[in-house]
Amino acid sequence: MKYDVIVVGSGAISSSISYELASRKYSICRVGSLDRSNAASNAAGAMNGCFGEVTTGLIASQHGKLKVSMDFNAKKRWPQWAKRLADSSGNHQSLFTAQGTHVILNTAGTDEIDTDNFHAIEDVLTTYNEPYETVAPKQITWLKPNELVRPLMSLYIPDEHAVNSHLLLDVLDSAFVAEGGTIIAKNAKRVLSKDKIITGVELEDGETILADKVIIAAGVHSLDILADMPDITKRIPPLFSGNGISILLKLPEGMELPSSVIRTPNRAFACGLHCVPRNDGILYIGATNILKNNPRTQAAVSDVQFLLECAVEQLHTDLYYSEIVSIQVGNRPISADGFPLIGECGIDGLWLVTGTYRDGLHQSPLLADYIANAIYGESNADIDLSDFTPIRAPLAGLSRDVVAKETTSQMLGMGYECLWDIKPNWEPVIQEGLLHRYESLVNSLHPHFTPPPEVIAFSHYDDKIKKRLLEYYDVWS
Ligand SMILES: Cc1cc2nc3c(=O)[nH]c(=O)nc-3n(C[C@H](O)[C@H](O)[C@H](O)COP(=O)(O)OP(=O)(O)OC[C@H]3O[C@@H](n4cnc5c(N)ncnc54)[C@H](O)[C@@H]3O)c2cc1C
Repeated sequence: MKYDVIVVGSGAISSSISYELASRKYSICRVGSLDRSNAASNAAGAMNGCFGEVTTGLIASQHGKLKVSMDFNAKKRWPQWAKRLADSSGNHQSLFTAQGTHVILNTAGTDEIDTDNFHAIEDVLTTYNEPYETVAPKQITWLKPNELVRPLMSLYIPDEHAVNSHLLLDVLDSAFVAEGGTIIAKNAKRVLSKDKIITGVELEDGETILADKVIIAAGVHSLDILADMPDITKRIPPLFSGNGISILLKLPEGMELPSSVIRTPNRAFACGLHCVPRNDGILYIGATNILKNNPRTQAAVSDVQFLLECAVEQLHTDLYYSEIVSIQVGNRPISADGFPLIGECGIDGLWLVTGTYRDGLHQSPLLADYIANAIYGESNADIDLSDFTPIRAPLAGLSRDVVAKETTSQMLGMGYECLWDIKPNWEPVIQEGLLHRYESLVNSLHPHFTPPPEVIAFSHYDDKIKKRLLEYYDVWS
């Protein structure tokens, strides 16, 4: 049996692409284990975080602005996408779990990060002419924070919701099969090609499957599948894991779920503190983000402690009495320059779609349509993602002269979110030390290629991240 397309991976991206292609009546095989225990998609709060994800750093570059327009484009697609999935799968349970998003500006961060990102969100909402209203924090009646970290300002974005990621993955599976797709629940080992044309994939048990095209969308593991093609992979920005945990809580008796997403602006390299009501009566809280060379399968005590403390202090002190239903560990795929990897790569018919980092789940309907069009030469009139072609020199994000300072600010912000209590003379000392450390690191890596702040911060702790960056920069120097 030869398929039109094999899609490798079983997270939101591969499942969405597979479904889109199957519903266009191509013969599609999706390969990948259905144990998604450490997949990013499974751990995601699945906020439709278009405007809520905006930061000053993101809108400082052209490529960052392109990411915002991807999010905006994806946002418009969700109502129709949810309807199509329901019609195909026959499962009409609503995927949406929240009505709108409240963004709160509280005192648990720093003025430089939280206030500036809060205003950046407002600015971009205005630029896109998106409805929102400024609300007094008291109007968010569900909130009951510790007085020390109470919110000062807040805004409500009525059209920015959230999706139940577990339900979404189930519905994507059944919708795909209903459209005639085939799922092989085994991982791929490598891709097969002849004369620089793709021919199929070899599975981990040695079985081979043939196809005219192969799309790799296996999240943080995507480049591992191309490991025996170093001529290609060495020119692609390496992928790291933005390892994060989220926690599902059963609320104490009598305590109601909030009706909206409630979140802070992004801070400390993560997607801010947020809670999302789940339509099964559970509250999702998220999320941490620690960059690792290798994906993690278990939650670190430090992450669990940090997230629970933040939720109890900043969102609702009665969460102290809730029960932990599960601790979810996910590995966000982040590329060395922080931007997605989307496009054909090195061999005719071989495509890569990953590097979606903090917002892949939200972008999945857009990516599905974009790739289904692109692989068959159809136009993508409403957005051009060719800048994110996988084989590329590092894309520029934050400019080099501010990146070390931004990394330092984010690290100091973590101290305030942990409610550290230091004497005034310590902060400038710590700031100077960190700034010096990050400036030296940036200069030691390359004379002009500059990684994003989180890659700088964590490559300081992990020599393997640094080594892979150096190898990649070397190819493009
Ligand atoms: C805690 C957390 C919160 C997040 N919150 C949000 C949010 O609110 N909104 C949002 O839009 N995004 C969010 N994200 C980011 C989002 O989850 C990711 O961008 C997106 O889900 C990535 O999807 P993916 O399919 O590429 O990867 P994954 O979901 O990681 O899936 C990859 C899949 O590939 C499979 N695989 C691995 N190796 C192989 C192989 N050799 N062969 C076949 N299959 C293989 C894995 O088993 C896995 O199922 C969050 C992420 C985390 C961790």
